[in-house]
Parts: sequence; structure tokens; C-alpha cells
Amino acid sequence: MGRTVAGLRATGRGVLVTGASRGIGRAVAAAFARQGDRVAVHCSTRRADAEETLAALEGEGHVLLAADLADPERVLALATEAEEALGGVDVLVNNAAVMVAHPPADTSYQDWQDAWRRTVDVNLLGAAHLSHCVARRMIDGGREGRIVNIGSRGAFRGEPDHPAYGATKAALHALGQSLAVALAPHGIAVASVAPGFVATERVAGRLDGPEGADIRAQSPFGRVADPAEIAAAVLYLASPAAVWSSGTVLDVNGASYLRT
Ligand code: NAP
Repeated sequence: MGRTVAGLRATGRGVLVTGASRGIGRAVAAAFARQGDRVAVHCSTRRADAEETLAALEGEGHVLLAADLADPERVLALATEAEEALGGVDVLVNNAAVMVAHPPADTSYQDWQDAWRRTVDVNLLGAAHLSHCVARRMIDGGREGRIVNIGSRGAFRGEPDHPAYGATKAALHALGQSLAVALAPHGIAVASVAPGFVATERVAGRLDGPEGADIRAQSPFGRVADPAEIAAAVLYLASPAAVWSSGTVLDVNGASYLRT
């Protein structure tokens, strides 16, 4: 494929998707592969699931890479391994995250601290450090690129049982906006998607349980999102056509929460 005016190819790119063992990350990896990109499927503990993601990808040149994003040295190694395996990372999708319950009224101070530290280490610092490592390689390689963060509606609507999760997602949106400004002179566009409830393995128990009907009723469509609907938004924000959306936080929540 020829290069566009923005310098980023539409297909045949190297794409690193964090947290692609299952759920939204798996759908994002599949969507990029389907349109002809080469994907580095990243996982942490669910290697067998990540192997399944990898095996199902269309096309060739895909790889599996494992790293705990809470470890800054592993983050640096992951960026290097992805660069080498893909021949350069054109698109980084910061999707990996943890959601640790710690309702303030029912959580001990020690558990509260542990939940905050773990959540910040993975959801915020993991994404921040990996963005730095990958962006530096894009700049050094003279490659224009894209970074897309998977944020959350919870950043705006509140997460009463998972306050650290909501806070890190708000911070991730803000990080994306700062990086959008800082990296634009290098031809790197940065944006975030803020999904509402999505039917992934992680939340299947809640959707199938007594609160399932209420969760579906959050959207006037009367359902939750399919992971492929989040992947479609990511694909767009990573495309050459979306350069002018750099800095945006795109709501993908079925009108379940409208920001003013
Ligand atoms: P998920 O199924 O729990 O997947 C999370 C991924 O993050 C897994 O691949 C996991 O790897 C990886 N991960 C967790 N801790 C990690 C660590 N320390 N280092 C590296 N990777 C780590 O989640 P999901 O429901 O698909 O959600 C994906 C993203 O969408 C998250 O950012 C989430 O906050 C966001 N989101 C989800 C929803 C929803 O309703 N599902 C709504 C809004 C936003 P392993 O499995 O290999 O351990």
C-alpha cells in the first residue's frame, strides 16, 4: 500500500495491542489483522487464551508477547520485542487494565492501598511507560504513528466500587490529550475511546446475574456493547483519516451516559 499524505499506511502496519488474551483486546487484534495489519498480541497471565487469539488472526506476521505492565523494565522489553518482531510499531493500543473491587465503606486501609497501587501501576503507569517507549521508537525511526487508549465511561460516571479504576481511566484520557499535543509535531496522533458496558468474559457473570437487566437498561438500546463495536472505534482512530481527531475521547456507550 502507498503512503497517505499523513505518512501513515492504511494497512500492512505493525500494531501492538496490550491485554489481547481475551475480551476487547482480542476483538481489537482480530479487527486489525482482518484489514491486513500485523499484530503483536500481548498478554500477562493468560498465555493459553492469548495463543487462541493469535491462532484465530487472519493473515501473517502476527506474534505473541508476554509482559507484566506493572514492571517498567518489562514494559521497556515489550516495546523492544514488538519493534523487532513487527519490524516497527506503527500503532499502539493501550487496552490492558485491572479492575479491583475496593468499595470505600467496606475496605480496610491496607486493602485500599493495595488496590490503588495495583490499579495505578497497571492501568496508568503501564500505559504511560509503554506509550513513552513506543513513541520514542516511532520518533527515532521517523515513522508517523497512532496511539489509542481504551479508557472508560466510568471516568465520567463514577465507579463507586472501583474508585481507583475510575480515577486511572480519567487519568488515561488526560494522558492521551497531553500526548496528542506533545507528539503531533512528530506525526503521531493519540486518542482514547471511552466504552460503556461491554460483553466480555470478565463481566459475563454480572450480565448473566440478577443485575444483568439493569445493566442492559443503562442504554436506551436495551443492550450492552459487543467487543467488535469497540474495536471498530479503535480501528477508525488508528486510521490515517482520523489524524484530525487526535486528542479526542470518543464515547462508545450506546447513549448510556451523555457528557455535556
Ligand atoms: P479483560 O478481559 O479483563 O482483559 C484485560 C486484559 O488486560 C487481559 O488481557 C490481561 O492479561 C491484561 N492485563 C491485566 N493485568 C495486566 C498486567 N499487570 N500486565 C499486562 N497485562 C495485564 O478486560 P476487558 O473487559 O476486555 O477490558 C479491556 C479494556 O476495556 C480495559 O482497559 C477495560 O478497562 C476497558 N473497558 C472494559 C469495559 C467492559 O465492560 N468490559 C468497559 C469499559 C472499559 P491476561 O489475561 O493475560 O492476564
